[in-house]
Amino acid sequence: MKEKKSNNKQDARDASQSFLGVGMEKIVSLCKRRGFIFPGSEIYGGLSNSYDYGPLGVELKNNIKQLWWKRFVQSRDDMVGIDAALIMNPKVWEASGHLKNFNDPLIECEKCHARFRADAEYPGLIIKIDKWEYVEDRTNISDMKITGKCPNCGVEAGRNFSSLKRFNMMLETYLGPVKDEKNKVYFRPETAQAMFVDFKNVLETSRQRIPFGIAQIGKAFRNEITPGNFIFRMREFEQMEIEYFIREEEWEKWFEYWREEMFDWMKNDLGLNVKDNVFELDVPKDELAHYSKRTIDFEYEYPFGRDELYGLAYRTDFDLKNHFKEPPYKEEGGEAFYPHVIEPTWGVDRSVLAVLCDAYTEEGDRIVLKLKPKLAPYKAAVFPLLANKPELVNLAKKIYDDLRKNLMVSFDDRGNIGKRYYSQDEIGTPFCITVDFDSLEKNDVTVRARDTMKQERIPISKLQEYLNRKLAGAML
Ligand code: ATP
Repeated sequence: MKEKKSNNKQDARDASQSFLGVGMEKIVSLCKRRGFIFPGSEIYGGLSNSYDYGPLGVELKNNIKQLWWKRFVQSRDDMVGIDAALIMNPKVWEASGHLKNFNDPLIECEKCHARFRADAEYPGLIIKIDKWEYVEDRTNISDMKITGKCPNCGVEAGRNFSSLKRFNMMLETYLGPVKDEKNKVYFRPETAQAMFVDFKNVLETSRQRIPFGIAQIGKAFRNEITPGNFIFRMREFEQMEIEYFIREEEWEKWFEYWREEMFDWMKNDLGLNVKDNVFELDVPKDELAHYSKRTIDFEYEYPFGRDELYGLAYRTDFDLKNHFKEPPYKEEGGEAFYPHVIEPTWGVDRSVLAVLCDAYTEEGDRIVLKLKPKLAPYKAAVFPLLANKPELVNLAKKIYDDLRKNLMVSFDDRGNIGKRYYSQDEIGTPFCITVDFDSLEKNDVTVRARDTMKQERIPISKLQEYLNRKLAGAML
């Protein structure tokens, strides 16, 4: 939740437009060219920073989500999942404080009406805030000085800029046929609240006892003032969140535990170069969100600069207290009480972005996406050496059909073998399998590995087993 003084480096644009930081062009171009991610509604001129995941992007994204679910839900007996509605009763957002507090500080150029976040950085525009005030119902900024020029129209900033306004980021809509205040509802700005609201239902049906967690993967919506940097900041995005319920006296222990889990996920599941590219920011006490006693932001070194990837917060018993009049948790023979909560939160789209940036490699004129095999959209690609030899094509198709019963596999008979390797390297396919004339006689194929470019001859009857072994090995 965006309540801290953030240090977002932003390029300037009108609120209705999006921006792209320096260094992102290659990633964006690869994503578009190869079908990972397209601009949303493109044939109608797009829609401010909305993106669609294409055939390869949806595989990558699903692989990340499945891996996460397997690690944090399936393989643990202290975790259960839910999948809650995107639109909840508006009273949820009143109780959680979002309707009052989920604000970004906004300033506006009165000449061109471009809008900016007062807590972000824009080229040529200097926003100096000497004093942030935290009052009961949220942040107030005083002694704000704006100098430089409007990055959008170039007018002298100072007197041409509005004073500060609070901008609520909740996205509204109306339920039912009558569009009036009574029917106004909000798209959830985080998945977390459903885990609190459903707490008792989960407790009664799952027989969990603290410490235990509720996990959810789903969409969230925020009316960001300046969305941008490709899928880094969008108005519609996806989160993977856990609310982990504990006893108050154990919060430090569990905070540390989740901090290590998150780090291990980045290093071993996503395969990020954590040493060079991941940084921890202990959010200073006076910048914490209203519900948090401690927060760590995990930041990633994106091509456009260092910025948030994930967050870890100690939310105390703030949310359960807001939603339940009576303490909702009781153990046999004990007093009822409000459990406290540690919240690790992962952005799905920022995971995809960090994985793509980390995996993108140029070796001469060869572009290789060095994705962990378990994340790669295709685990293997099958080629007939020549597309105009039916006996090669038929055998290659048969191998392709057999393999894809168990794995995501691609088939390619366009151009020459070199071009096909290039094309598969660029999308991160770990293995390429070529059927040649020898295959017809000896029943074997050439398997070429993406990272080493080494080739091996493997009997067709052993191919599935070979790939399973190699992929499992690479998954360790
Ligand atoms: P930021 O400071 O970047 O606005 P935040 O601190 O408000 O992020 P949280 O409320 O902690 O973010 O949300 C949890 C996670 O959801 C973030 O760590 C991030 O991965 C993801 N996230 C938040 N806002 C967006 C967005 N607009 N687009 C894409 N992902 C987002």
